[in-house]
Amino acid sequence: MTPEVAEQRRGIVALARDFAAREIAPHAAEWDRARAMPREVLAKLAELGFFGMRIPEQHGGLGLDALTYLMVLEELAAADASVSITLGVHNSLGCGMLCRHGSALQKTQWLPRMASGKIVGAFALSEPDAGSDPASLRAEARRAGEGWVLTGTKSWVTSGDLAGLLVVMARTDTPEARRGGRGISAFLVPGDAPGVEHGKAEDKMGLRASRTTGFVMHDVRVGHEALLGEEGKGLAYALGVLDQGRLGVAAQAVGIARAALEWAVKYSAERQQFGRPIKEFQGIQFKLADMATRVAAARALLHETAQQELAGGRRAVQASMTKLFASETAMWVTTQAVQVFGGYGYMRDYPVERLFRDAKVTEIYEGTSEIQRIVIARGLFG
Ligand SMILES: Cc1cc2nc3c(=O)[nH]c(=O)nc-3n(C[C@H](O)[C@H](O)[C@H](O)COP(=O)(O)OP(=O)(O)OC[C@H]3O[C@@H](n4cnc5c(N)ncnc54)[C@H](O)[C@@H]3O)c2cc1C
Repeated sequence: MTPEVAEQRRGIVALARDFAAREIAPHAAEWDRARAMPREVLAKLAELGFFGMRIPEQHGGLGLDALTYLMVLEELAAADASVSITLGVHNSLGCGMLCRHGSALQKTQWLPRMASGKIVGAFALSEPDAGSDPASLRAEARRAGEGWVLTGTKSWVTSGDLAGLLVVMARTDTPEARRGGRGISAFLVPGDAPGVEHGKAEDKMGLRASRTTGFVMHDVRVGHEALLGEEGKGLAYALGVLDQGRLGVAAQAVGIARAALEWAVKYSAERQQFGRPIKEFQGIQFKLADMATRVAAARALLHETAQQELAGGRRAVQASMTKLFASETAMWVTTQAVQVFGGYGYMRDYPVERLFRDAKVTEIYEGTSEIQRIVIARGLFG
């Protein structure tokens, strides 16, 4: 790494930390209760260039390397995981699909507006009956004249109804000749395309300030240029960007865990029982020591993975290990943090209760922990 890149990384991460401390962390509890974050905060993040972190500079982005991007996500997540997932899905999955597989024309058409935050990107793979097994998805795209007509239902789309661009995976094989995962293609569908009907915002356990909505496609007509890359490769493309997305979730998990650790350390110095601060009890010290060790280990694995140049199956295995370890660390560390806070940890008045709720989803989305273990085990057996 050149000194210029190291300097750029330090600067951007410090900018993210400072912005998160001033503009996000003080409001996270209020946004959680309101089940929304204000548009203005997204606009400010856009001004900082954070909607185009991985988009090349020629298309208006910052063109950051993977590690710097993930370090920014950790900073945002430590303040509010809802903010980090909104940017994570936009950057890793929405922009990621276009950067990797878009034609020159598609990139020119979409990326500058995505980099500037004018257009939020969403990634629509999951369906009511297809989550861990996306090859079984049922949404369809049929050729019609010069373009395509899409039908079907997508569920739990992060930023679904905020999105100006939905990257939609749909079947292009026929019922008579099903091709499993190879019968799925990826399409670029404007969020306001006629026939797209967005559902209600989900009422979630955690990440309550982030928007999660499904949508139904009623004969949505798009042009031939809406097909992303090659027909039949949509699921392979989606699983490929999920390797990057899973590192984003791992960075989010590290941020949540770090915040829980910091709050627990602070509280243990303030809370008095038996005539002294609880940090003086070895039982509490050991808990904090284990929390700190696991946060450091998860971050180290994430940073190592981000800097490896891996391809194909090895990249997928490494991404799965990283997401698995970081998300289970976040769940464990936040559980310990609630314990350090005692009864107050169970109350909404203290931040560890929100961090505990926010941590849980990192073990579920972008592939559950069971699915990560399947990918890792497959790697072991070749
Ligand atoms: C807040 C939130 C945001 C989301 N955002 C998006 C988004 O932007 N885009 C998108 O496409 N999706 C999104 N999702 C969907 C998410 O990716 C899925 O929830 C996830 O992939 C799991 O699918 P499922 O919920 O259908 O669970 P299921 O697949 O029904 O799994 C249920 C249980 O069975 C287990 N299981 C399944 N198969 C196996 C197996 N072979 N072996 C062992 N155990 C197994 C699972 O691990 C899980 O414990 C989001 C979900 C949430 C909660």
